[in-house]
Amino acid sequence: MHTDPVSYVRNAIRSVPGWPKPGVTFRDITPVLQDPQSFRVLVDLFVYRYMRQRLDLVVGIDARGFILGSVLAYELNLGFVPVRKKGKLPYQTLAEDYTLEYGNATVEMHADAVKPGQRVLLIDDLIATGGTMLAAAKLLQRLGANVVEAAAIIDLPELGGSTSLKATGLPVFSVCSFS
Ligand code: AMP
Repeated sequence: MHTDPVSYVRNAIRSVPGWPKPGVTFRDITPVLQDPQSFRVLVDLFVYRYMRQRLDLVVGIDARGFILGSVLAYELNLGFVPVRKKGKLPYQTLAEDYTLEYGNATVEMHADAVKPGQRVLLIDDLIATGGTMLAAAKLLQRLGANVVEAAAIIDLPELGGSTSLKATGLPVFSVCSFS
């Protein structure tokens, strides 16, 4: 590694202009995961940040939040809970609707996934408008969890998501950002 860890991860992220639609640049983390060294650097950045935080659970958001979230839960010796898109979880669920650029979406979590007072790290690959992360945080707060931080690999600050998440009182962390 000839550069600092954050730049090493950031440089491995692939930007795909015009996907999934014109005007959007997709920030693709698959090259980071594909290379064993950048994958390890990425996981270690999160492990160092949270290893002394007295967490109880890592909650990952469907689908790319599952990849980093489950590895991190294992490394930190914590349980893992998935927040899923509507209709995927088999047991009793809580749901939270939110607004997308075009239309609406719903995220769900099992009603028994978190106990009141548990200290939870919420994780996804990317924060854009922040709507997904906020809906997931609301699910956790409805169950009485303490969301210690909402974390992502990538922030897109121009879309305002991280700022509006912080404005609700949620601590927010991202490894890097793209404008
Ligand atoms: P938002 O709710 O607007 O913050 O969008 C965040 C969710 O949408 C995350 O789960 C991301 O995986 C996905 N997402 C939004 N914009 C992008 C983008 N430009 N590149 C990759 N993923 C994105």
